[in-house]
Amino acid sequence: MTETAESRLEAVRGRIERAAREVGRDPASVRLVVVSKTFGEVDIKPVIAAGQRLFGENRVQEAQSKWPALKNAHSDLELHLIGPLQTNKVRDAVALFDVIHTLDRPKLARALKTEMAARGKTVRLLIQVNTGEEEQKAGVAPADLPALLALAQDELKLEVEGLMCIPPVDEEPAVHFAFLAKLAREHGLPELSMGMSGDFESAVELGATYVRVGSSVFGSRPPIATTSQDPG
Ligand SMILES: *Cc1c(COP(=O)(O)O)cnc(C)c1O
Repeated sequence: MTETAESRLEAVRGRIERAAREVGRDPASVRLVVVSKTFGEVDIKPVIAAGQRLFGENRVQEAQSKWPALKNAHSDLELHLIGPLQTNKVRDAVALFDVIHTLDRPKLARALKTEMAARGKTVRLLIQVNTGEEEQKAGVAPADLPALLALAQDELKLEVEGLMCIPPVDEEPAVHFAFLAKLAREHGLPELSMGMSGDFESAVELGATYVRVGSSVFGSRPPIATTSQDPG
């Protein structure tokens, strides 16, 4: 059988469903965010045609180059920002994205609040937690999460739906997924964004409500401009 984006998408959906059933979860409680970074419209269109509606991008500028046209053509598409957000890109991000997974500091929370109020648009938010406490990685330190949540929810009245993490590459991801799930439970947050191509089944078993999957759907990415250090 020839592998197509459509057949790979079906395979990923099937694996999510099995992983959910394995632990007695309703498969519909897990939403697949297909990560289209580095891929263009030609690659994305067949995935939309196959019924996929949630997509993720990690850089604002790259997303701006392809998604406005696609969103115009499909009003029910939902675009998720899954990469770090600089405050000077907040205006563009609020204009384009429906969900931002990477709120991680007070200054960004304030900038998002200001921009959403000015635009009269609500963008759903998740807080990225640096569960591995890695120096170079984005995300709020677990110890600083309560203060950031208090600022975002109580003071700024932002809609924080949940938490997101990217486990350290050299550690067992399940440990980080379980930790993130525990933090979300403690703070009464319903959404958990965790799991990528290499580990999404484990994430589903530990409670993920969003899994972010790129290469398992599109095939491997060309090795260009995709490092996590890129500020987007
Ligand atoms: C690229 C990326 C993904 C998807 O990674 P794959 O291994 O291709 O599935 C998920 N989350 C984030 C934050 C990413 O940058």
